[in-house]
Amino acid sequence: MMGKLTVVGLGPGSPQQITPEALSAVAEATDFFGYGPYVDRLDLRPEQRRHASDNREEISRAAAALTLAVQGEKVCVVSGGDPGVFAMAAAVCEAMESGPAEWRNIEFAVVPGVTAMLAVAAKAGAPLGHDFCAISLSDNLKPWNVIEKRLIAAAEAGFVMAFYNPVSKARPHQLGQAFDILRAHLPGTVPVVFGRAAGRADERINVVPLSEAQSDMADMATCIIVGSTETRLIAREGRRPLVYSPRSWMAGKA
Ligand code: SAH
Repeated sequence: MMGKLTVVGLGPGSPQQITPEALSAVAEATDFFGYGPYVDRLDLRPEQRRHASDNREEISRAAAALTLAVQGEKVCVVSGGDPGVFAMAAAVCEAMESGPAEWRNIEFAVVPGVTAMLAVAAKAGAPLGHDFCAISLSDNLKPWNVIEKRLIAAAEAGFVMAFYNPVSKARPHQLGQAFDILRAHLPGTVPVVFGRAAGRADERINVVPLSEAQSDMADMATCIIVGSTETRLIAREGRRPLVYSPRSWMAGKA
């Protein structure tokens, strides 16, 4: 019997931000693959099997999950946030495309989740209220000069930007370089939201102007939202300012 492989997004961290569809997919599966801390978030029955792995082993994890699905198991691959955003859904598709034909003939589904930038944006106000883009700052899978080009293009086009994978121990300097590039193309007043561990107990949201943004304000659990020239702050007594991007673009209109 042909099994099934479902790639499930578990949201940013809070149990309340896991969708009912994701919970049903988890309840139906027999075998779970994913980065250890994500698999650990699941409340599994004793007969449901965990196959936790390191964060960097995405393709071998995808291959192992597909192999088990072909054997007839109901397999779940879990990602934090949304599985289609810098996560396992694309890794599984890459493995399916280049692997044995039987990997392409299993029942396959992707269950969406609340991605980090949406969780952080909701905490900040409405910074993604106008056009935006998402960029991973990791150069593990693309050259740094491509990232630089995209930063400049996005700044010049007026996109709000959400940065995933802003820093890691192996890449301590790139976020600072990214801010320097943006400071050359955007006013220093543009608001920058640092959203760390959104939805978890250690959540921290900070807002600073681009002129003061520094790489040591972020870690691997941070999603950064850099505003456009139109992004605004609403100051509030005793509360964090609201950050929002109005729905209409007025800049450059006579
Ligand atoms: N699939 C995930 C993203 C994986 S890439 C999603 O859709 O959210 C990993 C990056 O996501 C981290 O480096 C960080 O930038 C961001 N991230 C994941 N969870 C987060 C959270 N709870 N709060 C803030 N950023 C988070």
